[in-house]
Order: sequence, then C-alpha cells, then structure tokens
Amino acid sequence: MRRRPRGWRGFARAVGSVIGLTGLGLLGVYLWQPQRIELFPGEPPNLPPVRLGDTGLLRPGARVLLVTAHPDDEAFYVGGTLLRLRETGAEVRLVVMTDGDKGYYPLHDARATARIRRQEQLRAAQLFGIRSVRFLGLPDGRLQPSEEAIRKLEPEFREFQPEILLTFDPEHVRRVYHRDHRHAGLAAVEAARRSGFEGWMLLFSTRAANTGLDASDVWDEAQRLLGVHASQFSGPRLAYIQSMVDGRAREAARRMGLEGRRLEPFRAIRVGDGR
Ligand SMILES: [Zn+2]
Repeated sequence: MRRRPRGWRGFARAVGSVIGLTGLGLLGVYLWQPQRIELFPGEPPNLPPVRLGDTGLLRPGARVLLVTAHPDDEAFYVGGTLLRLRETGAEVRLVVMTDGDKGYYPLHDARATARIRRQEQLRAAQLFGIRSVRFLGLPDGRLQPSEEAIRKLEPEFREFQPEILLTFDPEHVRRVYHRDHRHAGLAAVEAARRSGFEGWMLLFSTRAANTGLDASDVWDEAQRLLGVHASQFSGPRLAYIQSMVDGRAREAARRMGLEGRRLEPFRAIRVGDGR
C-alpha cells in the first residue's frame, strides 16, 4: 500500500524532469537564434496620416539614407520604394550593418557567406539605382545598438547629409521580428539624433504605419529583384518569399483603402524643422 504512491510519485517526478529539460532546451534554442516574438505587442498607436508627398521622398534628387541589418533587407522591405526612387533620380546611400554571414551557426563558413552576400548586395544595389553602399561588418545575428555601431553610423549622416532616413521601426515591431532589425533601427535613430539629423524618418517593418508608397507600377520588377539575393532566395524558397512580400504589400494597400494595389508602409516621423 505504501509502495504504490511512491512509484507514482517517482514516475511523475521523472516525467516532470523530462518536461523541464525539454523546456530549458527549447528556451536555449530560442535565445540562441535571432528571431524574436513580441509576446505582448499592445495596440499600435493610431498616428495621424502623413501624405508621402509631404516628406519629400519623391522629390527629384532627394538624399536618402537607407540603413539595414542584412544584405537582402532592402529588397525584402523597400524594393518597390527603391525602384520608384530610381525613377525620381534620388541619391540613395545604403548602409548594411552586418554581412548576414550567419556566423552564429557553429561549423558555418561565415567568410564565404559574407563574400557571396556582399557581392549579391552590390549587384542588387546597382539594379535598384543605389549610388553608394557601405558595409559595417558588425556581427550577424548578434547586432547590438552599441556605441561602436552608433559611432560607425554617425559619419554617414554627417558626410552624406540625408534629408530622409529609411530604416527599421525599432519601436512598433511586427509580432515576429529579427532582433538585428530592431537593433539596426535603434542604432540608426540614435546616430541620427546625435548627428543633428533634420528631416523625415520613414520606418519600415512597422505595426504603426501612417503612410505608404504605392509601388504597383514597379511591382513586377521589385518581385524579380528579390532573386538577386540567390544565396538566400532561390527555387521554391524564392517563390515563397515573393508571395509573402506580395501578400504583405496587398494587405498594407487594403488597410489604406487601396484594394488591389501594392503598398510599402512606413511610420513617418518629422525630426527638427524638416526640409
Ligand atoms: Zn534581415
């Protein structure tokens, strides 16, 4: 009579430790890899809409600084916008904070990956009409909005004197996001502040969009250029990524009352007096 409960208790304890260890293992994997889930996203603020024309983005010759985390972010988040800027003759500088080398994977040839991805980025930049590209070479998957990162970005503002900053929204992130993206946005916004940037910030990958660029006319090409990052997107994966980006642009358009169009949404913030 005494033995039975002890046996059951032992069994329960064993099951408990298996569950506990599995949980710890899963938590470890979650913390190691760079994707994050916003557990309590809260309601995004309902910001007053901004007319894209008022930001000066599409003014011929506008100086636009685009700060991303990885080679391919430009095609994934603002491909249509870049093609429109190519048409308007904007001067676009791209700063890519990491080489996307996946150096956090053990046994991964990070150097070879970095080399390939830089080449793909340069090729894509050329096709998107981007005038200059900078690689900061900070750690992929482990990017921090550190002093080092901010200091590396500041000269880009001082020398280039952008009127528009395009970068990731560090605040109202999407429900599932890459930590590097948020950190790239944080570093870029801080570098902008320190260097006395005045103009418009257009933050993408946001849940609090108050403006957007209708990219319908250049959409086919934007979709095609995703394929330039062939080491990331090719074959069935390219088709999957294209339909994901397309679905997102359709949904953004629908939300802004432009059913059937393709929109790249932004949270627009005016800094200083603007220009
Ligand atoms: Zn990325």
